[in-house]
Amino acid sequence: MSVRAEFSLPLEGRVAAQPTGGVASMAATFRSDAAPERAHPTPARSVPTLPSRGREDAAHAYAAAASVPDPEVPCVTIADLGILRSVEIENGVAVARVTPTYSGCPAVLAIELAVEAALREAGFEARVERVVSPPWTTDWITEEGRERLRAYGIAPPAKASNSVRALFGETDVACPKCGSHETSRVAEFGSTACKALYRCESCKEPFDYFKCI
Ligand SMILES: [Zn+2]
Repeated sequence: MSVRAEFSLPLEGRVAAQPTGGVASMAATFRSDAAPERAHPTPARSVPTLPSRGREDAAHAYAAAASVPDPEVPCVTIADLGILRSVEIENGVAVARVTPTYSGCPAVLAIELAVEAALREAGFEARVERVVSPPWTTDWITEEGRERLRAYGIAPPAKASNSVRALFGETDVACPKCGSHETSRVAEFGSTACKALYRCESCKEPFDYFKCI
């Protein structure tokens, strides 16, 4: 159910599989080359890349990056929104991959800087890579994320953004405050470009609807 499990499985597999072979052969090459002159001691860096430690580090780094809140909707984290794609330890550097919610979203740079800062604070050398394909869709928002949006007063996007109805038709938007489906769109843009302003006809409250993309 949680997105963490979804991402940590392939992530752990890769971390465990990748460094063992690479580091072992690297260390072997290094030793045979360096042995004649005895100039270089055996590199100590094989220690932090042991598979078990690597898995722990990757999980630790993922947790640090996953806790970064979305700058526009601080009630949800970037993991809740599904824009944090993966965090891996590559040659001792925590590499986080982030997919922007939509191209040109002004929050992208802020998110990337915040992820980098969170990883450094957790003790990692860090790099953030932007992954634009496949493009983010609101379907990647986790159930937890939807619940948090609702609690914050923002109607979460309807599921299945690839349906014609969701893209072009009138979407059935439930009021996040009273749950009524008697709602109408007031403006195409709400507090940010990715939200529309709605009004509930039952409780008369205006609210933001997180648009489907
Ligand atoms: Zn209402």
